[in-house]
Amino acid sequence: MYKIGFNQGTTLENSSLIQDLEFCTKYGYDYIEIRSLDQLKEYLKENTLNDLKEYFDNHRIKPLSLNALFNINNRSDKMFEEVLAEFQEMVRYAEYLEIEYIVAVASFFDEIEAEKRLTKNEIKDSAVKTLKIFSDILKESNVKVAFEFVGDSICTVNTLGQAITIVEEVNRENIGYCIDAFHFHSMGSRLTDLDKVDMDKVYFVHIDDCEDYPIGFFKDEDRVWPGEGVIDLESFLSSLKANNFNGIFSIELFRPDYYKMDPEKVIKKAYDTTKNVLDKYFV
Ligand code: ZN
Repeated sequence: MYKIGFNQGTTLENSSLIQDLEFCTKYGYDYIEIRSLDQLKEYLKENTLNDLKEYFDNHRIKPLSLNALFNINNRSDKMFEEVLAEFQEMVRYAEYLEIEYIVAVASFFDEIEAEKRLTKNEIKDSAVKTLKIFSDILKESNVKVAFEFVGDSICTVNTLGQAITIVEEVNRENIGYCIDAFHFHSMGSRLTDLDKVDMDKVYFVHIDDCEDYPIGFFKDEDRVWPGEGVIDLESFLSSLKANNFNGIFSIELFRPDYYKMDPEKVIKKAYDTTKNVLDKYFV
């Protein structure tokens, strides 16, 4: 049987960690993905990490990941030091809260200091080097890194095929994937690649759907409730199932229309539409 998580991006502009936890618990989610970059910081202004730990100790819902660490590859030495410092802070939080995964995202061309375009090999070499550094830092830890490719034409790693070459070259127990159905669709990742992935390293999947745009033109705001868009979820989910994926799905939407809704309704609808799609294709 599968498990359902909630990614806080889904209510980014209309909720808070306290509210997300309350409604996720009420509607039966197994996991929450905590946004370390903003919503956790907001929470810690009025609460402590220990408050959060106690919440998880006393409720069924558990934290799935901290997300996300961005722009991890092809950085200048100086900028990489900042990335590393942020990573180390996330590791401290993850260990304290017993969160198994930190999501790390490849660099965006417009966010890095590259003076020229980068070849796939230059990107791979740098991403592999960074992920091995993360892996070494986590050697004595239970925390793992879920590397997420982003299906955007300006992301340095934007297909599953590219992510596979990186994670396989890293070849460490604690470095795997988060595969996002939207990112898989939006740059035309191939189902043949999904069939090739080492499923023991697919730590969890971001589930979502989206409006119909040409490849390379998608934005996160185009995401819609699972089952209400054009992603071929049938093939995507059937492949995961056939390859014995562990079954952890986390819904992640960033839709401005949904930010205008009551967060409780968003959290309930996100659960219901996710369950509906998973029941159809994954059970
Ligand atoms: Zn995602």
